[in-house]
Amino acid sequence: MQLFDLRGRVAIVTGGNGGIGLGIATGLAQAGAAIAIVGRDVAKNQTAAGQLVAAGFNARFVSADITNPGACQAMVQTVAAHFGRVDILVNNAGMTIRKLAQDYTPQDWQRVMDVNVSGTFHCAQAVFPEFQKAGGGKIINIGSMMSIFGATYAAPYSASKGAIVQLTQALAVEWATHRIQVNAILPGWIDTELTQSGRAEFPDYDYEGAVLGRTPAGRWGEPTDLAGAAVFLASQASDFVTGTAIPVDGGYSAQG
Ligand code: NDP
Repeated sequence: MQLFDLRGRVAIVTGGNGGIGLGIATGLAQAGAAIAIVGRDVAKNQTAAGQLVAAGFNARFVSADITNPGACQAMVQTVAAHFGRVDILVNNAGMTIRKLAQDYTPQDWQRVMDVNVSGTFHCAQAVFPEFQKAGGGKIINIGSMMSIFGATYAAPYSASKGAIVQLTQALAVEWATHRIQVNAILPGWIDTELTQSGRAEFPDYDYEGAVLGRTPAGRWGEPTDLAGAAVFLASQASDFVTGTAIPVDGGYSAQG
């Protein structure tokens, strides 16, 4: 088997119906993995899975809301029944609510935590028995630059993404002897619906200038920019790599 070969592997990508998730799903599929796209929006799920199938890959979708632990269990069982196994979980689904810290409601706070932190944990718990059956597995959690830096309009999001790094380390330590590697990718500024909505919410703010000025690469990232790190962390090339958080950020986190 080649180091980065994912043939015979089955990957679940939450939030795989667009943006970074679809970029990662496409990269994993190109490396040979069968893909299960997970999201709430059935039409988006259908389109994304259809796009992968049309490109010649083995893919399907399972519609599920990751804030519901039972739905996560059922989703994993559906994937395992269809493909026969589960080897890789990409915990990519995430969201934000942009307000000043003093203006968030308790419900806003809880919503961001439910999706970004609890949903990630529910999916990790749900794949554990399948990983045991497969003799091991790979979990890739998607953090953010806000896992390591602060930002305005992002108090719950930053807290949730900081938690992703700690959850990654905790699971990495606890599940290492089960041959499960748990790592995080910390994307920089990537051009997706999430960041497009931020630009639309604050039309008077020079978002473009701020992102390009702060990113040494001088450009927005594309969803496919995340695929290489994901293939590495999903493959046997990373079998002794666990508990790390790898920035894929055009140099954002290296900039003083
Ligand atoms: P998008 O808004 O384009 O995608 C978010 C995805 O998450 C969608 O597929 C959405 O599908 C899914 N999702 C949201 N809530 C749920 C839920 N409750 N259950 C299941 N799926 C859900 O965002 P990005 O692609 O930009 O972001 C992907 C990840 O990358 C997120 O975790 C984000 O925080 C992180 N990130 C993004 C950065 C960027 O610059 N874009 C930078 C750093 C991190 P559906 O609506 O169908 O449920």
